[in-house]
Amino acid sequence: MYSHDVLIVGSGLAGLRAALELVGNLDVGVLTKVYPSRSHSGAAQGGVAAALANADGDSIDAHVYDTVKGADYIGDQDAIEILCGDAPRTIIELEHFGCAFSRTDKNKIAQRAFGGHSFNRACYSADRTGHALLHALFEQSMKHAGNLQVYAEWYVMKLIIEDGICRGVVAMDIKSGKLEVFHAKTVLFATGGYGRAFEITSNAYANTGDGIVAAYRAGVPLQDMEFVQYHPTGLYGHGILLSEAARGEGGYLINSKGERFMEKYAPNKMELAPRDIVSRSEQTEINEGRGAGPNKDYVFLDLRHLGKEKLMERLPQIYQLAKDFLGVDAITDPVPIQPTAHYSMGGIPADNDCQVEIDENGNHVKGFFAAGECSCVSVHGANRLGTNSLLEALVFGRRAGKKMLEVTQGADWAPVDEKRELKAVEDEIATLLNTNAKESLGDIRKELQSTMTYKVGVYRSGEEMAQAQGILKNLQAKFSNVRIDDRRKNFNTNLIEALELSHMLEYSELILDGAIARKESRGAHAMIEYPDRDDENWMKHTLAFRTKDGGFELKYKPVRVTKYQPEERKY
Ligand SMILES: Cc1cc2nc3c(=O)[nH]c(=O)nc-3n(C[C@H](O)[C@H](O)[C@H](O)COP(=O)(O)OP(=O)(O)OC[C@H]3O[C@@H](n4cnc5c(N)ncnc54)[C@H](O)[C@@H]3O)c2cc1C
Repeated sequence: MYSHDVLIVGSGLAGLRAALELVGNLDVGVLTKVYPSRSHSGAAQGGVAAALANADGDSIDAHVYDTVKGADYIGDQDAIEILCGDAPRTIIELEHFGCAFSRTDKNKIAQRAFGGHSFNRACYSADRTGHALLHALFEQSMKHAGNLQVYAEWYVMKLIIEDGICRGVVAMDIKSGKLEVFHAKTVLFATGGYGRAFEITSNAYANTGDGIVAAYRAGVPLQDMEFVQYHPTGLYGHGILLSEAARGEGGYLINSKGERFMEKYAPNKMELAPRDIVSRSEQTEINEGRGAGPNKDYVFLDLRHLGKEKLMERLPQIYQLAKDFLGVDAITDPVPIQPTAHYSMGGIPADNDCQVEIDENGNHVKGFFAAGECSCVSVHGANRLGTNSLLEALVFGRRAGKKMLEVTQGADWAPVDEKRELKAVEDEIATLLNTNAKESLGDIRKELQSTMTYKVGVYRSGEEMAQAQGILKNLQAKFSNVRIDDRRKNFNTNLIEALELSHMLEYSELILDGAIARKESRGAHAMIEYPDRDDENWMKHTLAFRTKDGGFELKYKPVRVTKYQPEERKY
């Protein structure tokens, strides 16, 4: 058994930022299934938001208002005030950590426009912002290598919570297949998003919701799972992201007739309306026959008018992605795009200090914290604004670290039954490795992903979601008979893919359950039968609890409003 005062699962921005707050004071272990610098944070392109004084008229309050409105009034406003209030400090801190932000002519940090923000407030490093931020943090953490033990390519399989106290995790060393219990006084989950349940997705292969499902199976509810963000500009057929920065720099969206269709849907903000609105506009164009291609199922991102020089300086990665994956030269041709599953607004419910909540009354699981995309604080409500997520991971990662320092220093070691915990995981693996199993893992995963993309998409209908529910039940039954061909211990990616698939099947059901129950349209949840937002009945957060028989129960809790009462959302 390994033990550390504090255990952090995940080495993206949230996990590493938390770790920096703790090293030097406590013994810290960081577990991550991919090498730290390969965490999905490193794929972020467009920028990180802060109301710096660079844009005339911008203010923290304006950032708060934009975020509350972008969230379609279901974000918790006290948390949003923390997020936006701490943003300028965060940017300066990251710069001092060594992050090279792009500059203006006057050598200030440059800021570009982003959807739903009323001022230019996205700080960026060309279109590789996440890469620059993640590497700066990783470098900083390396300075503390003596006090910070990183377990890279370790796969966490189980969260240990007993009598309301979190005690550690069970994890597998991917290299050897060996299982170990990690004992800790406090645990932080910073396990990222879970977009891989969708066929068309911008998310990394590792984003399979392991963390949220481990928490759920350990008795923690999951919050607002129905809100999955579709990003308007996924590369057609692949879903790979072309950052909103492309529109922030002046890119247009056009349909097969060459029309800038956003004129109809958001006449003031045009392409820079929030993502839920732009994705729905694209989908409407496609549904009404104005899509391009043989199946009329995509529209275009037009960057031609920006010119080669600007494209190469500000959007080099986007240019290269279009070239490599579709063979399209964005200097001379418009790029085929479609909405892509991108961001998970829901996750592990946590308070403003990232302490995980076990029920609708805000009671805590002692010693368990969550931050970053896997958590639901909730600063993004029903729809996240671009650039607010890197910010969330940094701001709340730090807050988690600070609170954990305080809590851990006074905490005792709660005992762990090592044998029992190991046995539970060994049994799960043994069941999966059953030699008589027949079902193809790839087929189950493929059907799950296409079901989620095509039946739980930008627009949702009760009928299609009911069909999806049926398909999901069938896939879950098939999964109990899934075949794993690789029976070795070391680097058994076949086994890990099966574990990941079991997580995807479990949380996809919660996305559906929450969506079917919510009889309104709000943010990323657009119900055909209920096209309007219904504040009277639905301005509340969903909590999904796992019942003893493996089923679920939905409960609700109120949204925290400080300053801004709900208004009609127009852009
Ligand atoms: C392509 C793309 C572009 C984006 N661009 C932007 C942008 O420009 N601006 C913005 O604000 N947001 C952007 N986002 C969103 C943003 O990048 C993420 O929400 C944010 O980086 C998440 O950070 P995180 O620290 O929570 O998780 P991640 O960076 O995803 O890290 C998750 C960590 O958890 C670990 N982990 C997961 N499961 C396990 C397990 N079972 N065992 C052990 N370890 C585990 C992983 O190894 C990883 O280290 C983008 C997202 C994508 C996909």
